[in-house]
Amino acid sequence: MEATLTGLGATDRPLALTYSGVDRAAHHRMDEAWLAAAWSHPTTRVFVVSGGQVLVEDGPDGRTELVMTPAFDAPETEMHRYFLGIAPDGVRYFALQKDALPGRMDGAARAAGLREVGGLLSPLEAGLMVHAVALENWQRMHRFCSRCGERTVIAAAGHIRRCPACLTEHYPRTDPAVIMLVTDDQDRALLGRQLHWPEGRFSTLAGFVEPGESIEQAVRREVAEEVGVTVGDDVSYVASQPWPFPSSLMLGFNARAVSSEITVDGEEIHEARWFSREDLRAAFASGEVLPPSGISIAARLIEGWYGAPLPRP
Ligand SMILES: [Zn+2]
Repeated sequence: MEATLTGLGATDRPLALTYSGVDRAAHHRMDEAWLAAAWSHPTTRVFVVSGGQVLVEDGPDGRTELVMTPAFDAPETEMHRYFLGIAPDGVRYFALQKDALPGRMDGAARAAGLREVGGLLSPLEAGLMVHAVALENWQRMHRFCSRCGERTVIAAAGHIRRCPACLTEHYPRTDPAVIMLVTDDQDRALLGRQLHWPEGRFSTLAGFVEPGESIEQAVRREVAEEVGVTVGDDVSYVASQPWPFPSSLMLGFNARAVSSEITVDGEEIHEARWFSREDLRAAFASGEVLPPSGISIAARLIEGWYGAPLPRP
């Protein structure tokens, strides 16, 4: 099978964390009267987010579902409620940020983070969760004004922090990171291993975009720094994925190397190898190589080249 060098190929399923179908309806965020009415509407659904985790349970059909309640059952902490949007069926969704997840009498629910359930929840619920977790991460790390140092307060239903002293409005920040599937002139893929990863796990290279740098420049610099390989002009964007661990946006690329000698930096990347499709197939089969996490765009970039779904990690 001829594998594609562009697109995510190999499978039709949507990239995890990138689809929700929810209208964020940002124009309502400053409208306190509308928000109050939406909050108390009987069809509105609320879930609690705390430390990047939510409560999930197994639904009647065995699928993993977010535990949601009507707003009247939710604890009253108005300051920490995030308006997430309106679904096509008209249901409004809020997340409530709390210091701890609430207990449940029936014990059926369990706490879970995005890495565990981001690929199990429905696309709508995964999208709601990624929005809430991203907001919570930003809120937690931006409690003080970066201009004057005063404590800031939440506004716009969780989407702004306002400084009462200098009146600066602070908006949620997202840190762009590049992640790239590098191939050589023999169409082999370059995969690397970080020291703290489980033995045998290989994945695409990745790194943060630096100030004053284009994302294509970041791709070339990161590959050169991490493994000493030179990437040429052929750098093409594939797709992006929100990655709120704590606040990244992964920008996925295919890139063509013009050199092949590998010199790992020994810090971020501990080991790197060129794999042909046959090499990788054999390494998966023998257990010598483990694929990256199922929800990550890394797996999809590799699949786009490999031409078939990767085995589950
Ligand atoms: Zn300030």
